[in-house]
Amino acid sequence: DESARLSQSPDDLPSVSVSVQFSDFAYRTDEGKPWVLPVVKKVESIIVNDTTLNHEYLPILGLPEFRSSASKIALGDDSPAIQENRVGAVQCLGGTGALKMGAEFLRRFYNGNNNTKTPVFVSAPTWENHNAVFSNAGFEDVRPYKYWDAQNRGLDLAGFLGDLESCPEHSIFVLHACAHNPTGTDPTQEQWKQIAEVMMRRKLFVFFDSAYQGFASGSLDKDAWAVRYFVSMGFEMLCAQSFSKNFGLYNERVGNLTIVARDADNLKRVLSQMEKIVRTTWSNPPSQGARVVAVTLNSPELFAEWKDNVKTMADRVLLMRAQLKAKLQALGTPGTWEHITDQIGMFSFTGLNPNQVEYMIKEKHIYLMASGRINMCGLTTKNIDYVAESIHEAVT
Ligand code: PLP
Repeated sequence: DESARLSQSPDDLPSVSVSVQFSDFAYRTDEGKPWVLPVVKKVESIIVNDTTLNHEYLPILGLPEFRSSASKIALGDDSPAIQENRVGAVQCLGGTGALKMGAEFLRRFYNGNNNTKTPVFVSAPTWENHNAVFSNAGFEDVRPYKYWDAQNRGLDLAGFLGDLESCPEHSIFVLHACAHNPTGTDPTQEQWKQIAEVMMRRKLFVFFDSAYQGFASGSLDKDAWAVRYFVSMGFEMLCAQSFSKNFGLYNERVGNLTIVARDADNLKRVLSQMEKIVRTTWSNPPSQGARVVAVTLNSPELFAEWKDNVKTMADRVLLMRAQLKAKLQALGTPGTWEHITDQIGMFSFTGLNPNQVEYMIKEKHIYLMASGRINMCGLTTKNIDYVAESIHEAVT
């Protein structure tokens, strides 16, 4: 058959399944419902009534006031790097798009041209898309670095530092800015300092993934501490920001790739190449979500209201953590449960083993990952007793 076929045989085109349960990564209210942030509703009505707006294409790099205000919340209002005109940004399709654009740029230009051999290190474990985004961008050597200490249910700092010491110079490291997905375990400020020291000395490149700013502690500044510390140390870096979770704008695909360059001239050249990459990928980004974020961040009143909304979400998660720990301790469930409140953000590594997870799913119809990871937002004041009692039964 000589016709133009999408593929010649099933062997050429095997069927694959991309199974993602997106609700595993989303916030839910105490009623178990999605939440449209009140500030977002307000801003959407401002936008709809603004007669000066239209549906013309945005510039290739996106909405300027979105890009600059997004970078500002990552780096801080008073960031010297911003004042030195060496910070720029690309509006992207979600945090995923920002990671993708950053990866495409790095493969082309970082550390020499078209360096597909540069190792890219992602945490073990990590958000599963990290591996694929970097390998799809052409990196042939995506590897894990030690992060989670299952025995002690915490950060494996020695292992992490060891990998930083022994990896090839100029390797790229993807670091979770806060609220590590899936372990909920972040380095402390002292630990970040040690990590930064080794990365600087060993000439390693830092690519921050900031998908949960505000979600971890309820404070935007606290959650950006690591990013700002690395900038203050003089690292050039990329930082992929997602506004999916902290604005509840999952389906609007609002992300930003913040670039901290050496100087203004370097930044200009980076952005020019970014324009070329974006032009051949999505040409220019959508506007609605970026407008919502930009209007919010650029008005002191709306900004304050947003911070309040973020805190509402973070506080609900913190409350569920505190209650779950207290209930397990009251039940006398064997084991220590401090890690539930030591961990932060949306996710928790419960420490339940695969047998216990299976018991939870089969006998109790409580669904969690085989790794024992739960989305804390699945807990509500109505089901938390049942969940605690079920964990107790699974463990005993
Ligand atoms: N990075 C991490 C660590 C995430 O958990 C997620 C989403 O779950 C993303 C990036 C992607 O965010 P977005 O939906 O904005 O693409």
